[in-house]
Amino acid sequence: MPQNKVITCRNFHTGTWHDASEGLIERYNPATGELAAIAPRSSPADVDAAVASAATAFRTWRTTLPADRARYLHELAAECAHRVDDMAAAITREQGKPLDEARGEVRKFITALHYYAEEAQRVFGRTIPNDAAGFTSIVEKEPIGPVAGIVPWNYPIELIGWKLAGATAAGCTIVIKPSEHTPGCAQILSECVAAVFPSGVVNFVHGDGATGQALVEHPAIRKVAFTGSMRTGQSIFRSVNGITGLSLELGGSCPMIVTERADIGAAITGAARRSFRNAGQICIAINRIYVQDGVHDEFLAGLAAAADALEVADGMEVPSADVGSMTMEETYRRTLDHIEDARERGASLVAGGGPVAELKPGLFLRPTVVADAPDEALVMHEETFGPLVGVARFSDLDDVIERANAAPGGLAAYAYTDDTRETFALARELDFGNVAVNNVDAGIMNAPYGGRRESGFGSEHGHEGLESYLQLKHIRLRHGAR
Ligand code: NAD
Repeated sequence: MPQNKVITCRNFHTGTWHDASEGLIERYNPATGELAAIAPRSSPADVDAAVASAATAFRTWRTTLPADRARYLHELAAECAHRVDDMAAAITREQGKPLDEARGEVRKFITALHYYAEEAQRVFGRTIPNDAAGFTSIVEKEPIGPVAGIVPWNYPIELIGWKLAGATAAGCTIVIKPSEHTPGCAQILSECVAAVFPSGVVNFVHGDGATGQALVEHPAIRKVAFTGSMRTGQSIFRSVNGITGLSLELGGSCPMIVTERADIGAAITGAARRSFRNAGQICIAINRIYVQDGVHDEFLAGLAAAADALEVADGMEVPSADVGSMTMEETYRRTLDHIEDARERGASLVAGGGPVAELKPGLFLRPTVVADAPDEALVMHEETFGPLVGVARFSDLDDVIERANAAPGGLAAYAYTDDTRETFALARELDFGNVAVNNVDAGIMNAPYGGRRESGFGSEHGHEGLESYLQLKHIRLRHGAR
C-alpha cells in the first residue's frame, strides 16, 4: 500500500525544478479531508519562464528524427510504468476514484505514449502534380511550435497524456498546466519526464485559472489544447489571440437511446457502467436515457438494481470499489440540486438519492436513477458531472433523435438496438462527435475523439490528434531548364 504522504509540487522547466512566486495551493483528499498535496500558484512571470523554456527547446526538438521522438516516448512510458502505484495513489487521494480505477487510468496513459511514439513515424507529406514543366511542389507537415496543454481534474493523468504525447510526437514542445485540484499526480509524472526528456521539451507550470489564462495569452504559444468546462472554454476562445491555434474539448449532456430491438441486458450493463464510473465525473458519462415504451419498465428495473448493487467506498481502503468520493464540493452540491430539481418536476427516484451517511464527511453519493424525468428537468439537458442519470420514455425514433440532439453540447451519444435500419438512423442522425452503438466506449486511442457544437472543436486521439499539432508548408521547387 503506498504511503499516505503529502506531495510537494514544483514547476518544472529548463530541465530543473522551480518554486513559484505567488504562494501555494493546498489540495485536500475529498474522501477524508486530509492534506494531499501542496502546489505553487504561478504568476505570469513564472509562466513566461516556462514558455521561454519550451520556445528554446523547440528550436532543436522540431528537427529531431521521428524515430528519436518515438524512443523518448517509449522511454517515458517505461519510466511511468515503474510509478503506476505512486501515480494511482495520488489520483485516488486528490480526485477520489478507487485505486484500481486510478491504476487503469495510468495504464491507459502509458498506452497513449506508446501509440503516439509509433504514430510519430507516420507523418507523410505529398507531392503535387506540376502546373508547369520543370517544377515540383511538395507539401510538408511541420510542428506548429510551443503548445499549451491545460487540463481538468477528472482524468488528471490521461488527459495530460493525450496532449503531451500528441504534441511531442509531432515535434512540438509543450507547457502543461495541471488542474489545481490534482497537482500531486502531475508532480509524479513531471519527475518521470525529468528523468527522460531533453530540457524544455515538456514543462509543467502549476496554478489555478489565472495561471491558465496567462499561459493562453502568452504570445510565444502557437496552439492551446484545452480540456475543461464549457464556461472556461468560452472564456479561452475569447482570450486567445486570433492567430493562436486552439482545440476545445468541453463538456456536454450525453444521451443514450434504447429501442425495443435492443439486447436489454447489455443495455443495462452499459448504462450502469457509463453513468456511474468515476462517480459520473466523465465528460462522456451518460446523463439521460430514452427508452422505448415496450422495454421501458424492464430496463428501468434492471438499471435500478444495477445501480443499487454498486459498491460505494473510500477508494484507498477498497481499491476495487465501483464508486469513490466525488472530487469537488461544487459538483457534489450540483448533483444533489439536480436530484431535487427532477423530483420537483415530477420524476420519481428509483435508486440512490443522496449521500452515504456512514462515509461522511467525504463527498460520497449513492448512484442515483430518476425515472419519468421531463425534458425540462436539469438532469435531461445540463451536464450534472455526478452519479446521477435520468430516464424517460419514447415511442417514435425520429422524435427521440430530435430530443437527444436538442440539449447543448455534442460530445458523445449512445444507442442500443439490434436492428440495422435503426442502427444507421441513430449513427447518422445523432449530432455528436462520438456515437457508440451497442457499446459504451465512445473514445478509443486510435480513432479521432472530439466534440461539436457547444462541446468544442478539434480532435485528440488517432492520427488526427497528431495532425492537430502540425501545420502545412508548400515548397515549390524549380529544377528544370531556365
Ligand atoms: P475547468 O474549466 O474549471 O478547469 C479546467 C482547467 O482550466 C483547469 O486547469 C483550470 O485551472 C483551467 N482554467 C480555469 N480558468 C481558466 C482560464 N480563464 N484560462 C485558462 N485556463 C483556465 O474544468 P474542470 O471543472 O476542471 O473540469 C470539468 C469539466 O471538464 C467538465 O465540464 C467536463 O465535461 C470537462 N471535460 C471534458 C472532456 C472532453 O474530452 N471533452 C474531458 C474531461 C473533462
